Amino acid sequence: MSDSPDTAVENIVLGQPTVGEEELAAVAEVFRSGWLAGAGPACRRFEERFAKAVGTQHALTTSNCGSALYLGLRVLGVKPGDEVIVSDYTFPATGHAVLQAGATPVFADIRPDTFNADPASIESLVGPRTVGILAVDVFGQPGDFDEYRAIADKHGLWLFEDAACSAGATYKTRPAGSLGDLAAFSFHGRKGITAGEGGALVSDREDLIAHARKLHTYGIEPAFNREGSDELPIPTFHEAGFNFRLSDVQAAIMNVQLDRLPELLATRRAAAKHYHDAFAGLDGVEVPVALPDREHPWQTYALMIAPELSRGQVALKLRERGIGCNFGTYSSHLQPVYGEQRPLPVSADVFARQLAIPMHSNLTDAQVERVATVVREVVTELS
Ligand SMILES: *Cc1c(COP(=O)(O)O)cnc(C)c1O
Repeated sequence: MSDSPDTAVENIVLGQPTVGEEELAAVAEVFRSGWLAGAGPACRRFEERFAKAVGTQHALTTSNCGSALYLGLRVLGVKPGDEVIVSDYTFPATGHAVLQAGATPVFADIRPDTFNADPASIESLVGPRTVGILAVDVFGQPGDFDEYRAIADKHGLWLFEDAACSAGATYKTRPAGSLGDLAAFSFHGRKGITAGEGGALVSDREDLIAHARKLHTYGIEPAFNREGSDELPIPTFHEAGFNFRLSDVQAAIMNVQLDRLPELLATRRAAAKHYHDAFAGLDGVEVPVALPDREHPWQTYALMIAPELSRGQVALKLRERGIGCNFGTYSSHLQPVYGEQRPLPVSADVFARQLAIPMHSNLTDAQVERVATVVREVVTELS
């Protein structure tokens, strides 16, 4: 249609899953096995392996991270009237889960360098109705879990990690997922390892995971757990559970993705390093901070655009030149669904100025190079 010279330019997308022949072969095997539903042998195998990888005793696969967050809050006993302190800067699935459990999210402001909840803000929000802290590893980099734990212990609160983007991340050598009493992961297509959709709830606490396992399958033990019994066990329903299962088709994909995690992380780490070096000293942008005591899995690479530049203009010019980009994530307290909230200046500022640029495990060195060059040119031109 258009005869603009830009039509010849290759588009470099913001995010993309890395899946291929190995995942297809694993899916074919599930087809042959006949067990396509959820909570079957492929899920069981992935749960055992994933728990080991994230350093917990137990893991439960779920339909997505939102259902894992909700199940986690339910098995922690969250109820109407309770308040849960939630990191403000996140995809709002985090706050939604608290609302869905009938409780009130109270949003904590963030650190300007890592975008994770600021421990001082959390501490200031603890009140008589506070039951726990739901802390997000923003873009996968773990928050300040030693400080979060100290606050939780001091006030008798539980600590729940939203580790949606964190597969492969570490905090002081401990894997993300093992940092709270519970953690929830996402396997959505935009995350570091993916089955298109999917999630997991992990914990050392057998009681919590056992309860969540029943709730995720309508309130009874999954059918696979009854296989092989020589009696005819007939389950009884004591609670109105849900179908929050991951299918075995998805679990088979996840088993391959888990094997590939080190390779996928290495590609993103190299891209992040290239970006860092390319943008060092470039006026108009600040690069994201990866703290030395944690491994950042780089689910997203987001620049902060200087206040004197128009982020919209930067985004428009990048897209014109075939470079995918978008805002970072959301300030929860600014979303109407949560009603009137106290102002959180750091989160609001980050929400207004952050711009994510291409970051995924299919990026070639040449593509990373081209993104870096175009970003430098656009920012310099608009400065
Ligand atoms: C993506 C994301 C979620 C939601 O994950 P789903 O699997 O889509 O439910 C929750 N929290 C954070 C921090 C996320 O990035």
